[in-house]
Amino acid sequence: MPLFDFSKDDRANIHSIRRRTLRMILEASKSQDPEEFGALLRAEKGVIRELILLPGTVSGQRHAIFQFHNLPIDFTVVGTVHSHPSGVCLPSRADLDLFRRYGWVHIITCSPFDKSSWAVFDGRGEPRKLKVVD
Ligand code: ZN
Repeated sequence: MPLFDFSKDDRANIHSIRRRTLRMILEASKSQDPEEFGALLRAEKGVIRELILLPGTVSGQRHAIFQFHNLPIDFTVVGTVHSHPSGVCLPSRADLDLFRRYGWVHIITCSPFDKSSWAVFDGRGEPRKLKVVD
C-alpha cells in the first residue's frame, strides 16, 4: 500500500530538471563520497528545481535518510535523489521499494559523479528521461 496515492495528480508529469539543481546534486554526491548523499526533489510546473535535505542522515548506513518516518507528505515533493558511490547507476531492491512507495521520479547518481553520472527512474523502477533546462 503506497504511503500516498500520487497517481491521479498531474505533478506526475515531471519533464525537466534545472541544470543548476543537477549540478548541485552531482557536487553534493561527490563531496559526500564514499558515503551516500540523499535528498528529496521539489518541482514546479514539471521542472525539478530544488532539493530538500532530510534530517537524520546517518553516514555509512545505506539509505538511512529515507526511513519512511522522515518523509514528508508534501505536495511539491516529486521524488528522491541519492548517490551510489559504488558506481552502479541502477536501483537496488531497497531503492525499488522506496520508489514504489514515494514519489514519481527518482534520480540515482553514481561515481565518478561527472556530468553523465546519473540516471532517472519512475515509480516502478523503469528508466525514464529528464530534460536538462537552464
Ligand atoms: Zn540506492
